[in-house]
Amino acid sequence: MSEFVTGDGRTHIESKLMRESLVDQRTIARTHSDRELSILPNVTLVGIGGQSIFDRGREAVLPLVEELSEIAGKHKVILGVGGGTRVRHTLSIALDLGIPTGGIAQLVGAMEEANAVFLNALLAKHRSIVMQREHFWELPLYLESGMLPIVISIPPYHFWEPPPEGGPLPAHGSDFGLFIHAEVLGMERIVFVKDEDGLYTSDPKKNKSATLIEKTTLHDLLANMPSELILDKLLFSSWKTARHVKRVQIVNGLVKGNLARALAGEDVGTVITKN
Ligand code: ADP
Ligand code: MG
Repeated sequence: MSEFVTGDGRTHIESKLMRESLVDQRTIARTHSDRELSILPNVTLVGIGGQSIFDRGREAVLPLVEELSEIAGKHKVILGVGGGTRVRHTLSIALDLGIPTGGIAQLVGAMEEANAVFLNALLAKHRSIVMQREHFWELPLYLESGMLPIVISIPPYHFWEPPPEGGPLPAHGSDFGLFIHAEVLGMERIVFVKDEDGLYTSDPKKNKSATLIEKTTLHDLLANMPSELILDKLLFSSWKTARHVKRVQIVNGLVKGNLARALAGEDVGTVITKN
């Protein structure tokens, strides 16, 4: 039975949060728990790049679909898709129209949904299914039935994407969005499928002397961040305080077999670990 506390003109239910401000740093620190529930701990999130993979068309997508069809049934994975160049076009029109940041984030999600539908058409015979926006509670059912769920990347902000520090563009891109999907669902591994072998010391498309970072920790990476990145920068700063994601891997999806190797636990591409 809850105890009631009175005496200040109101009736409170006795609890750690009674009469506290939820933005008080001490209250936040006191509510930290080491017993946070992992909802889908043994599932891997596989992010498929919008610009780096989808925009290359059948040449890049069909071999990857073949690889995914072999993976389906062997590993528990959720596929996340980015929107690519159509997102850039949409952003440009949205900016022209003066649409606010939260509205822009919604439109980006709609562009990603198109790639989710395309991918689902190609993988349908291998039991894929597109998760409706925010229907996260359906994911365990899909996975338990041996299905291959496809989600979009942009986080579900509706019209409340926080105002970015500079300019109106949403600060939370698709890589960060997938990171948050994984973290909130208690997933430990994310594999990003892009068009380069992994994270280099600088953008290999612009700099021929860039070298591949094969294995690193979050701590070492934060101490020595390349100025150009293959993943959203916010992913790394948020990962510091994350509680579930332990391993982020980046593989080249244009090389057949890389994704399967990564899912089998091999250190292919770039492997970044939390510790
Ligand atoms: P997507 O839209 O598919 O998420 P992006 O185009 O946003 O992909 O990111 C992938 C691109 O990032 C690569 O094609 C590469 O040219 C670029 N890039 C920038 N910095 C780096 C880096 N340090 N290492 C590897 N690739 C990088
Ligand atoms: Mg990107």
